[in-house]
Amino acid sequence: MSDLPNCPQCQSSYTYEDRDMFVCPECGHEWSGGDAVESEDTLKINDANGNPLADGDTVTVIKDLKVKGSSLVVKVGTKVKNIRLVDGDHDIDCKIDGIGPMKLKSEFVKKA
Ligand SMILES: [Zn+2]
Repeated sequence: MSDLPNCPQCQSSYTYEDRDMFVCPECGHEWSGGDAVESEDTLKINDANGNPLADGDTVTVIKDLKVKGSSLVVKVGTKVKNIRLVDGDHDIDCKIDGIGPMKLKSEFVKKA
């Protein structure tokens, strides 16, 4: 079992193991190994491309989204900073400039 997984962030194969974490020397990404026990409250939410999202990430909206209960539209290409992952149908909690706090679906964003 000397096979190390490729970096999930940049697909580099030069990853190494450090304690129970994997580290990518190319982009500096660190993640926990497959055998590690994942904590129950870690939400696994992926963007439209299948990349994992995390609290504090910046994402880009890939589709015009109507804001429920208003005539506002979040335009495709809108950058959303500092997202927070939540449980539910709309799994991203965020605040959008000019619109305010709202929830998005992860399938309509991609990691910036
Ligand atoms: Zn990497």
